[in-house]
Amino acid sequence: MFQALLSIFESVVSHPEFLVPTMWVALGCTIAWYLLSAKKWHEVTHHELQMLWKTHKQFTRCTSKGFEPIRKGKKIVGYKCQCGHQHIQQKPLINFGA
Ligand SMILES: [Zn+2]
Repeated sequence: MFQALLSIFESVVSHPEFLVPTMWVALGCTIAWYLLSAKKWHEVTHHELQMLWKTHKQFTRCTSKGFEPIRKGKKIVGYKCQCGHQHIQQKPLINFGA
């Protein structure tokens, strides 16, 4: 087992041209993972939901009287306004504030 690993290591070291694509693949996987993990559902509280909905009403001059929370499992991740507007909260990709 160790001999096999050693021979792989030796062949990589003696052929650095194999190392470069491997590094690019690793880098690509890391970036893809980061982007995907950053887009996971972000749970919002009832208070935040109210704030988001009121903001939507202000911006769109929506006159609906209510909204329904959108759930993913047990988490509240957004709302559906009576006007048909949906908002799903996602983590910002780059968060300098927190
Ligand atoms: Zn609305």
